[in-house]
Amino acid sequence: MATIFTALQDVQARIHAACTTASRNDNEVTLLAVSKTFPSQDIRTLYQHGQRAFGENYAQELASKQQELSDCTDLEWHFIGPLQSNKTRLVAENAAWVHTIDRFKIAERLAKQRPSDMPQLNICLQVNVSGEDSKSGVAPNELLDLAQQVSQLPELKIRGLMCIPEATDNASRLTTQFATLVKLKEQLNSQGFALDTLSMGMSADLELAIASGSTLVRIGSAIFGARTYPPGNTAP
Ligand SMILES: *Cc1c(COP(=O)(O)O)cnc(C)c1O
Repeated sequence: MATIFTALQDVQARIHAACTTASRNDNEVTLLAVSKTFPSQDIRTLYQHGQRAFGENYAQELASKQQELSDCTDLEWHFIGPLQSNKTRLVAENAAWVHTIDRFKIAERLAKQRPSDMPQLNICLQVNVSGEDSKSGVAPNELLDLAQQVSQLPELKIRGLMCIPEATDNASRLTTQFATLVKLKEQLNSQGFALDTLSMGMSADLELAIASGSTLVRIGSAIFGARTYPPGNTAP
């Protein structure tokens, strides 16, 4: 019988195979299990099997699940959804990572609201690598400015860059967009930043992302199954 645990193992095997093909070590790639819309019990099951990093898209859902799973002490919450000003406090108080920073204003609010007894909030700056108007993410030519501003906030720690490429199965277009993120990270590091994270790759394209240099893949449906979205929310 297929269970979410066997699905997790299948994804781990895909990551292992992709790392082998790319001559990379498995430990260079973190698996973020994207649990949005799925119940806390599913998260607990995977936690009991050793999975530690979980991704959520909705601030309120993140906060409720954090409460329900507060006994899972080393569970690491990543916020990966679009973040509005009125939801920053919930995220500042509950997440270890935020992957979707594309405006200074949101970063500033998170910094102000981060409780002083919590460690720095790890940040990935989201970059619009496909250039589509509809996409979130800072434009590549505005990334350096944003990174410099965010780096002034002591409550935050910039760890890397994140992208959601164009929704296509055209491998060469995806590869080009992943390569853009890789190059931007190298450019920032040559300007004195010390980024160690490239958050790229989802269920359908994790192999391409790992071949391109991803250090963190965000996997939802391949582990938890197909999602049905609540009204008003659309798939990324
Ligand atoms: C939902 C979501 C994912 C997971 O997508 P799958 O295709 O289900 O693996 C990854 N990243 C972001 C930003 C998401 O919102």
